Amino acid sequence: MIPVRDDLRALEGYHSAQVDVRVRLNTNESPFPPPAGFRDAVAAEVSRVDWHRYPDRAATELRQAIAALHGVDADQVFVANGSNEVLQTVLLAYAGPGRTVVTFEPTYQMHAQIARVTGAAVVEGDRGDDFTLDPSEVERVLAEAQPHVVFLTSPNNPTGLVEPRERVEQLLALAPGLVVVDEAYAQFASWSALDLVDETRPLVVTRTFSKTWSMAGARLGYLVGPRWLVAELDKVVLPYHLDAVKQIAGCLALRYSDEMNDRVDLLVSERNRITAALRTLPIEVFDSGANFVLFRPHSVGGRAVWQGLVDRSVLIRDCSSWPRLENCLRVTVGTPEENTEFLDALAETLASAPATTNDSGTAAANDSAVPADIPTA
Ligand code: PMP
Repeated sequence: MIPVRDDLRALEGYHSAQVDVRVRLNTNESPFPPPAGFRDAVAAEVSRVDWHRYPDRAATELRQAIAALHGVDADQVFVANGSNEVLQTVLLAYAGPGRTVVTFEPTYQMHAQIARVTGAAVVEGDRGDDFTLDPSEVERVLAEAQPHVVFLTSPNNPTGLVEPRERVEQLLALAPGLVVVDEAYAQFASWSALDLVDETRPLVVTRTFSKTWSMAGARLGYLVGPRWLVAELDKVVLPYHLDAVKQIAGCLALRYSDEMNDRVDLLVSERNRITAALRTLPIEVFDSGANFVLFRPHSVGGRAVWQGLVDRSVLIRDCSSWPRLENCLRVTVGTPEENTEFLDALAETLASAPATTNDSGTAAANDSAVPADIPTA
């Protein structure tokens, strides 16, 4: 064995419990496959792909289609294999050794993880107990860290909270470097930072095809930002990184906006149903603007509740051992039937579980055959 880079030795890899269950509500995907018409159209187009040629390196048509969706120009759009690769490209270009990246925890852990992999230092600001972000904490952290890149996730994962517009504006006013607003779940929320993007602001907004567009299996994400920044990312990313089939699939998906908007409406109403139902149980529930809901059982350990659900063939995300999220669980909004199964299984689990005095629920975790998640998706 040869030693890995010193600064990578302490990093954890990606782990997410993969358990064979009937109802999977743990990774915030769309519960619906893409429309049948989409799949037929992709099959027809793919039959015309020039397999022996490299794809369009600039992904011109796809960028144009995304630009049209948001009312911007194609040279304000950068596309990659999932928004994780978009984030990685941003961090390769603007973070790296000797530079600093700021996150406000708890939030999506890949921001800090990818930043560290590029060799950057990560400074973590803190959210309050209700997971909102205090303006004075933003001011303190930015003044002390002077970051090259600062992240905000809205709606935030795993809390579901939508950041108010003033918080993004505050970051833009105070941050000395680039502001990245990760909007993987923006379609489920009440506002987007997209209309703040222009040539004068060091702001990018990242989006994904993995949730609303039902395309997690294809790996496609993008950002909208100033032209000068997109040009730098085009230099950093590998040549021909986006294959021809994916470019076709992305363009075709955007023709199904109406269907996708209907699905978003259904998922939002299901999210509200889940939230209301959870509020009738002995559980703390956090307001969500996303396609998932974070909650904290009062008297039964989070890990024990998670296991009780797995025993009833329902898998949700166990955040109970993640920093700052003691006892918390996150459920993805599924189909109405799946959500009902989840709610029934939860009520049964709470009714049958012995109340614990240990808030962390760790005793239950130690007995489990399934390894704990780490906070990366
Ligand atoms: N950002 C956030 C906040 C996410 O929750 C996720 C998915 N878990 C991603 C980015 C990555 O999404 P993609 O599938 O586009 O890489």
